[in-house]
Amino acid sequence: RHEADSRFGPLLRNLDSFYLKGAFMRAKECFDRPLCSRPGAWIDIIEREAEANNQSFKLTAGRRRCLNMGSYNYLGFADNSPVCTEQVMQALNRYGVAQCSPSTELGTTDLHRQLEAEISDLLGKDDCVVFGQGFATNSTALPAMTGPGSLVVSDSLNHASIVTGARLSGAEIRVFRHNDPDHLDGILRDAVVNGNRATGEPYTKVLVLVEGVYSMEGEICDLPSIVAVKNKYKALLFVDEAHSIGALGKSGGGVVDYYGMDSSSADILMGTFTKAFGSVGGYVCADRDTCAYVREHSLATRHSTALPTPCVQQILSVLSIIRHTEQGRDRITALHDNAVYFRTRLQEMGFKVYGHKDSPVVPVLVYHPAKMKAVSNMLMDRNIAVVVVGFPAVPIVSSRIRFCISAAHTREDLDYLLGHFSEIGDCLRLKYNKHQGLIA
Ligand code: PMP
Repeated sequence: RHEADSRFGPLLRNLDSFYLKGAFMRAKECFDRPLCSRPGAWIDIIEREAEANNQSFKLTAGRRRCLNMGSYNYLGFADNSPVCTEQVMQALNRYGVAQCSPSTELGTTDLHRQLEAEISDLLGKDDCVVFGQGFATNSTALPAMTGPGSLVVSDSLNHASIVTGARLSGAEIRVFRHNDPDHLDGILRDAVVNGNRATGEPYTKVLVLVEGVYSMEGEICDLPSIVAVKNKYKALLFVDEAHSIGALGKSGGGVVDYYGMDSSSADILMGTFTKAFGSVGGYVCADRDTCAYVREHSLATRHSTALPTPCVQQILSVLSIIRHTEQGRDRITALHDNAVYFRTRLQEMGFKVYGHKDSPVVPVLVYHPAKMKAVSNMLMDRNIAVVVVGFPAVPIVSSRIRFCISAAHTREDLDYLLGHFSEIGDCLRLKYNKHQGLIA
């Protein structure tokens, strides 16, 4: 990766804007939203055909059943659990569709309370605050937890919702190199020794922000080293577990569970219910005082409608399965085995694969932005739906496909994909190990 960036980055940055514009236009076409059905291991996508001008598409009556490699349906609960669906229908009948009130007003039901208690119990914390949306959790809980006079030290690849929350808080922000505890150590040492750069005053609070699994890189946070550094400087640690809660750790307890660490090692655990739980919403889980303050002072809990109760029920049903049944444990194991198998086979074929071996997100480099559309179209022609990611979300020569593995994928599904992807990789010269030096 570094080799690719250093060899081609300067070259591409210096190319004339006409060429770059062309590459981006081609890349942008990949992001035209297809119309999709319910997300499962397979997904129906309404077919489109190019209009006469070749610039836009129109929908046809055709439906294409595609292997779904792009949804965050890690445990397969988005479509594949009759128990959850039945319980959700019961909640729908009993509570209706929406709360029509924030959680701090009349939006909290007994199920919301139960969910907060279950998450606190799963993560070994005092309390939990449930939000109506994951993005709103970060963007409004962080400003409740920090503010002017505080320092936020954020991983360089943190999600946009974390960046938004940090900026809205008014705290000073410093960024440390992705998943690099030594760089974090240097920043925290400077902060402790010199205090606020402008005033020289000591910071009232220092909060380190990381993610459990980084969704563009497929990397797992180096939690043991980061915890050691934050403890050394008495900073607080906030971990976004959007992609790790339910998906990582023997009992689905996320990154703390994965490393077998004590529940007190991270101070604040945030997560979303939009991935492994196949639902909506987010949470902040921490000590009693922090949760009480966040519940009262975050803009979303005060001024935005609470999480719909049928969605709360879906999360409770999934939690009950993963915590108390063999089926749940089997799904966690299946996700892990699928991810390891898929990643290993890709590497054996010669693809450049990013991330940690245990991560359910498997990014594969296609390098040049112009290859993004080609690769996604060629896969779609073979009934495989993927998400491609390009600049500015990732560096310009590190365009990639982000495969999201699910417990719902069978070995046949993955072999079907691997067979086709290998052919496409040869055709588009994506196999780094085979075509070293020829990657552009
Ligand atoms: N945090 C991270 C790390 C994410 O990847 C996302 C979205 N994928 C969010 C927060 C926002 O979550 P939601 O989609 O549930 O709003």
